[in-house]
Amino acid sequence: MNRSTQVAVIGGGPGGYAAAFLAADLGMRATLIDEAPNPGGVCLYRGCMPSKALLHVAKVVTEAREARNWGVDFGEPALDVDRLRGWKDEAVSRLTGGLGQLSSQRGVSYLHGRAELSGPTSARVTAADGGVTALEFEHAILATGSRPAAPGPLALDSDRVWDSTRALELPSVPGSLLVVGGGYIGLELGSVYAALGSRVTVVEMTAGLLPGADRDLVAVVARRLAGTCEAVLLETTVTALAEDGDGVSVTLEGKDGESAQRFDRVLVAVGRVPNSDVPGLDRTAVGRDSRGFVVVDGQRRTAEPTIFAVGDLVGEPMLAHKASHEARVAVEAIAGHKAVFEPAAIPAVVFTDPEVAWCGLTETQARAEGRKVEVAKFPWGASGRAVTLDRPAGVTKLVIEPESERILGVGIAGSGAGELIAEGVVAIEMGATASDLRLCIHPHPTLSETLMESAEVFFGQSTHVYRPRRKR
Ligand code: FAD
Ligand code: NAD
Repeated sequence: MNRSTQVAVIGGGPGGYAAAFLAADLGMRATLIDEAPNPGGVCLYRGCMPSKALLHVAKVVTEAREARNWGVDFGEPALDVDRLRGWKDEAVSRLTGGLGQLSSQRGVSYLHGRAELSGPTSARVTAADGGVTALEFEHAILATGSRPAAPGPLALDSDRVWDSTRALELPSVPGSLLVVGGGYIGLELGSVYAALGSRVTVVEMTAGLLPGADRDLVAVVARRLAGTCEAVLLETTVTALAEDGDGVSVTLEGKDGESAQRFDRVLVAVGRVPNSDVPGLDRTAVGRDSRGFVVVDGQRRTAEPTIFAVGDLVGEPMLAHKASHEARVAVEAIAGHKAVFEPAAIPAVVFTDPEVAWCGLTETQARAEGRKVEVAKFPWGASGRAVTLDRPAGVTKLVIEPESERILGVGIAGSGAGELIAEGVVAIEMGATASDLRLCIHPHPTLSETLMESAEVFFGQSTHVYRPRRKR
């Protein structure tokens, strides 16, 4: 079959579907191509959504246990793994089905198959049944995403060694689980399995969990993980994995040398690599960097003028909202609008319990760059809302430019930090100062007040903490 379109989007994740939908909204003929029956990509099928469904359950289980402290005893939660898996899968189907409907309502042509570029203005799409569609396009947007990395000794082909996709399928709740990598996935999925009853050990290569985040934020979640995990081993790597009965024997190398341990299952979560091996890419001028990311300019145009690229394929941070935003920039550029991808603040949220979130400049980055900043922190023990939620462990911090008093960065660790960080994004993007934040009335009693009170701390005038202003 032969077809033509104005914008061909390869990959149906948050980058791809956002691109195709906006192209259609702007009046262009758009074709979206993905190997799944509906749009969604990694985020909906095997990333953000299934993990958040399971994290929600983990939080409920934890709170049900904690309720004993408040005089309410629900008993020990009884787990029906099949039903839990079914509920999580239903949530995913509902969301991907919804995207399928939105796609057809907008008149986007959805091609269910695998795309191969034939050149700078053409592609071939092979459907699961072998049928081939030859597609001519004016512009293409590549949004083929990323896949889990499994370097060197971690690449054992065994059903006992899981990647995030397998762990999200919830094949079982193992008695013991080794999580390799103390990043986003390791901590989120490690928390899920710990709450469901696994004895979880986390090994992290670097000296701290979540290497990209400020240490004071990480400390809040690390303290809790110390109680929920069997062990958290820093500066430790896995040097060998081997099947051992129904488990895996693991050689760990840490500060004190090598040791051997056995686990029922191992989850490898040491980062992701871009899917830049798009078939036929070599028939175009699209370039890749040394890490395999497709190289793009500020409008997300590749070295091939007709081809744009967005999302995990073009680099860090590998986050869904960054992919969607880039997608909208690329489509605007194709439509001839003035658009560029230049965010001052991309929020990052680790949905552990408690959550860790940050945006804009981190304190660590500021120090590394030798930038003069002031940091104002509000401890959640002084928040009425945090105490009445029995979640006083938390901190909200502002990274402030001393001269202009502009807010350059916001970090939050605590329950619901992922929702709260959006206020920080708006503040940074709008060039808000500490005074702006201090003078906005925040509802009481809410955790959002911790943002206002951090700004008050900056001036030495926080109502709920006594911290006189230091001489500058
Ligand atoms: P993807 O979502 O990876 O989609 C790419 C699509 O392209 C896939 O469907 C793939 O099958 C398809 N494709 C590839 N090659 C071809 C081809 N040749 N032809 C046709 N189709 C092709 N991010 C967040 O912001 N928040 C979260 O809470 C979050 N949680 C996550 C949890 C996990 C466990 C994981 C793994 C990731 C998580 N992420 C999260 C990251 C997020 O999923 C990605 O950043 C996001 O999906 C990237 O979107 P994308 O459009 O670039 O690509
Ligand atoms: P990550 O980069 O977040 O963390 C990987 C961790 O593994 C790092 O701390 C790294 O130091 C460590 N590591 C690397 N090699 C190791 C080794 N051999 N032994 C021990 N530790 C090792 O990667 P991830 O957790 O796999 O997640 C991939 C990406 O997916 C994230 O970077 C993020 O962009 C995205 N993601 C986002 C969310 C979210 O937004 N909530 C959730 C999950 C995933």
